[in-house]
Amino acid sequence: MKRDIYTDDHDMFREAVAAFVAREIMPRDEEIRETRQIPKEIWLKAGEAGFLGIGIPEDYGGAGLDDFRFNAVLQEELAKAGMAYGSSVGIHTDVVAPYLVELSTPAQKERWLPGFVSGELRTAIGMTEPGAGSDLAALRTNAVQQDDGSWILNGSKTFITNGYYAELVVVAARTSDGPSRSAISMFVVEDGMPGFSRGRKLDKVGQHEADTAELFFENVRLPAENLLGDEGRGFPYMMERLAQERLSAAVVNIGHAAIALERTLEYVKERHAFGRPVGTFQNSRFKLATMVTEVEVTQAYVDQCLRAHNAGELTAVDAAKAKYWTAEVQNRVIDDCVQLYGGYGYMNEYEVARAWADARVTRIWAGSNEIMQELIGRDLGLGDPRPSKAEARPVAANPA
Ligand SMILES: Cc1cc2nc3c(=O)[nH]c(=O)nc-3n(C[C@H](O)[C@H](O)[C@H](O)COP(=O)(O)OP(=O)(O)OC[C@H]3O[C@@H](n4cnc5c(N)ncnc54)[C@H](O)[C@@H]3O)c2cc1C
Repeated sequence: MKRDIYTDDHDMFREAVAAFVAREIMPRDEEIRETRQIPKEIWLKAGEAGFLGIGIPEDYGGAGLDDFRFNAVLQEELAKAGMAYGSSVGIHTDVVAPYLVELSTPAQKERWLPGFVSGELRTAIGMTEPGAGSDLAALRTNAVQQDDGSWILNGSKTFITNGYYAELVVVAARTSDGPSRSAISMFVVEDGMPGFSRGRKLDKVGQHEADTAELFFENVRLPAENLLGDEGRGFPYMMERLAQERLSAAVVNIGHAAIALERTLEYVKERHAFGRPVGTFQNSRFKLATMVTEVEVTQAYVDQCLRAHNAGELTAVDAAKAKYWTAEVQNRVIDDCVQLYGGYGYMNEYEVARAWADARVTRIWAGSNEIMQELIGRDLGLGDPRPSKAEARPVAANPA
């Protein structure tokens, strides 16, 4: 089915991103996966091309566009190259950007946004901790204010996308003992601050392009100017940004499934068994018919969410449905793609094998699919009528 949400401007932007991917990323893809990092020069070139500042005000070098379809085009094209290109850049442009644009003071904007746009300041977001993933309200990293107004930060974060190299990390930390809704604040931790260190690059099953890492904070002194927004409002800040974060995840998920399907279709027309293309067996035809239907129907829902988001009407629950469903479809479709490739589908040198490994995490991160189902179910008026103390906590649905 032909998609109708994009205009000529989006199509031109897509061509520019596709050309960038072909020129700057693909020739280095293997090296990037081996070293587990997208080199800084690629970030800088992406900045120069205008890809990192879509939603950043023009005063700070961005495009000042209030049209998330441009973000979606960027994600779709990057996901074609490998899922982690989409997720790493998406954390920067779709997840961190709203924090830095909407919560910062004019002085903070001056400090951080030009570098954000140019790629000089790569960003990450640190919410998850070893003891607090889905249950974000359990986070223990804490910041204590000093007499001079500065803060002393202690704790750790784990599984942080872009964590190894990011120059700026938005960190959620507890700033009082009260209930989480009013006890968490957001800070910006900068590369090189004494006491801020990173663990090794984590050894993931897939998404090898991404420098996912643990972060450690040992008596890190943060100037008062590094508090983002109001003290104690971190939890609502995170909740308010969920819809865009889930939508961004959904865009990448379905884009990644669509490209795997497209390439599988080409493969099954070429690959022969018993004297005929393997795609012409009835089982393959039915499988592919199911897959293409699932992808197109899901894409239509995601496109509707994109429209709603641009109109300021996308709810966190509808975005949760998009994140949940796209992750399920993506994993189902790519698993079937691997099956149609036969043994080659299990070889890392084949893109479909890597796509399969890349996709597995999408049911876990950005709020696990169980948490998404929980939120969707509660929205139906089906909350537990007798919550235990632990369950009475707000379901944070860790967005990152
Ligand atoms: C590659 C990767 C990159 C990531 N990037 C980031 C990042 O950039 N920043 C960041 O902050 N975090 C990041 N994360 C963390 C991610 O958001 C968490 O892994 C996720 O929220 C799940 O938390 P957890 O791993 O602690 O699992 P847990 O919370 O321990 O969950 C374990 C299982 O229990 C289920 N479960 C938990 N609570 C409930 C419930 N109430 N009802 C039903 N089932 C439940 C979960 O669905 C899951 O199946 C990343 C993770 C990975 C793997």
